[in-house]
Amino acid sequence: MSLSNLIQKNNIKHLASALGLFGAGFCFHKMVQPKPTVLPWIEKGTESDINPSKLKFIKTKNPKKKSKPEDLVFGATYTDHMLEIDWVRNSGFSVPRIVPFHDFVMPPGCCTIHYALTCFEGLKAYRDKNNDIRLFRPDRNVDRLLGSTKRLSLPGFNKEALLEAMMRYVDIERSWVPNKRGYSLYLRPTVFGTEATLGVKEPSSMKIFVIASPVGPYYKHGFKAVRLLAEDKYCRAWEGGTGNFKLGSNYGPTILPQKLAHDPKIFGGCDQVLWLYGPKKEVTEVGTMNLFGFWINENQEKELITAPLTDGTILPGITRDSILNIAREWGEFKVTERTWTMEELLKAQQEKRILEVFGSGTAAIVSPVKEIVYQDQLYEIPRNPSDPKAEMGPITKRLLDRIQSIQYGEVQHPWSQVVKKY
Ligand SMILES: *Cc1c(COP(=O)(O)O)cnc(C)c1O
Repeated sequence: MSLSNLIQKNNIKHLASALGLFGAGFCFHKMVQPKPTVLPWIEKGTESDINPSKLKFIKTKNPKKKSKPEDLVFGATYTDHMLEIDWVRNSGFSVPRIVPFHDFVMPPGCCTIHYALTCFEGLKAYRDKNNDIRLFRPDRNVDRLLGSTKRLSLPGFNKEALLEAMMRYVDIERSWVPNKRGYSLYLRPTVFGTEATLGVKEPSSMKIFVIASPVGPYYKHGFKAVRLLAEDKYCRAWEGGTGNFKLGSNYGPTILPQKLAHDPKIFGGCDQVLWLYGPKKEVTEVGTMNLFGFWINENQEKELITAPLTDGTILPGITRDSILNIAREWGEFKVTERTWTMEELLKAQQEKRILEVFGSGTAAIVSPVKEIVYQDQLYEIPRNPSDPKAEMGPITKRLLDRIQSIQYGEVQHPWSQVVKKY
C-alpha cells in the first residue's frame, strides 16, 4: 500500500506502523493509553423482547474513584457501568448488557439528532439503614417510559423485563449509592432512535440505555423557597401536544424562557418559570415540576389543588401522584385535581386564602414557592403564618417527610422496593 493510499483510507494505525511508530521503545502512545473497550454502536439481536435472564455483564477494568458525597454536582459524575439494550426491526432485541460506561459513536444522520426521537426517565436509588438499596415506585417510571417510547412510534417492550434488567444494574452499581440521607443514585433510563436516516419516519432501530449518577440533595443548604415568573408568552405544553410524555423535545425549548426569567431586571431575577396555558391563564407546572396549591377555597374549605391530567398539558409526575395519595389518605382536607387559573390564584392571594404553594418532582421532592411575578407585579405567597421566616409550609414539610421516610425505608410501604442481591 502506498502512503497516500493509507492516508486516503484514514487508516492511521497502519500508517503509524508503516512509519515505525509502533516499534518497540517508541510506542509512547500505546503505553499510556488503556485499551479502550470497543463496543458496537448497535448490537443486533434475535430476542423477541427484553430478556433479562440472558443479561451479559462486562466488568470495568478501570473502576473510578468515588468522590465525597458533599462534593457531588448534579449530573456530573457517572458510575462505572451502563445498561444497554438494542432493537433492530426484523431482527429483534439484543440481550441486555451491563458494560463499562462509554461514549456512543453516532452517525451524523442519526434520526435522533435531527428529529429528537428520544425520551427519558428520572428516578433514584436510596440506601437504607440496613445498607439495602431501594427504588421508589420504579414500575411507574418504566410504565411512563413505555408510553413515551410508543409516542415516538418506537416499539413497545416488556415492562417487567426492563425493570428486572434495571434492578440487576442497580445491584451491580450498589456501592455507588451514597450513604447519607438526602443523597441518592440518580438513574436516567433513556430510549432513542438509532437509525441513520434523514427521512421523517418510524425509525427501524432504537437503543434503550440506563446510566447512573450519584447525587446530593437538590437544596444543598436546606430547602429554599423560590420566586416564580408566571409566563404567558412562552408555552411549555398544549392540548394535542406531548407535554404529558417525557420526551427530550419538550425540554430544550424551555431553556430560553428559563434563562430570561433569571434577568435581574425582573425584581432581581426569578428562579423558575410558572407555565401558564391558554387564554384563561391556567396554572399548569413549574420548571420541570408539577405544581400544588394549598388554600382556603371559595367555599371556605381547606383544599390541596393541582391541575388534572386530562388534556395532555401536564406531565403525570410520580411525586405528584404520591402526594395526592398521601393527602387523600390523611383525609384532613379536600384534595382536588382540576383546572385552576392565575385569576383564581391571585384572588385567593389578595383575600389571604393561600396557605402554601409548592412544586413537586423526583429531584427535590417538593420545592416551596415564596413569590410569583406576573405582569410586572410581585405577589407574596405565604408559607408558615406562625413563622414568617420559614422556607417551607407545614403541609409541604409533612409531605416531604412522609415521602422521604418511605424512600429511605424508615417505614414499611409497598412503594419502596428493595433491590435484590442477584
Ligand atoms: C419529570 C417531570 C415532573 C415530575 O415527575 P416525577 O415523576 O415526580 O419526577 C413534572 N413535570 C415535568 C414537566 C417533568 O418533566
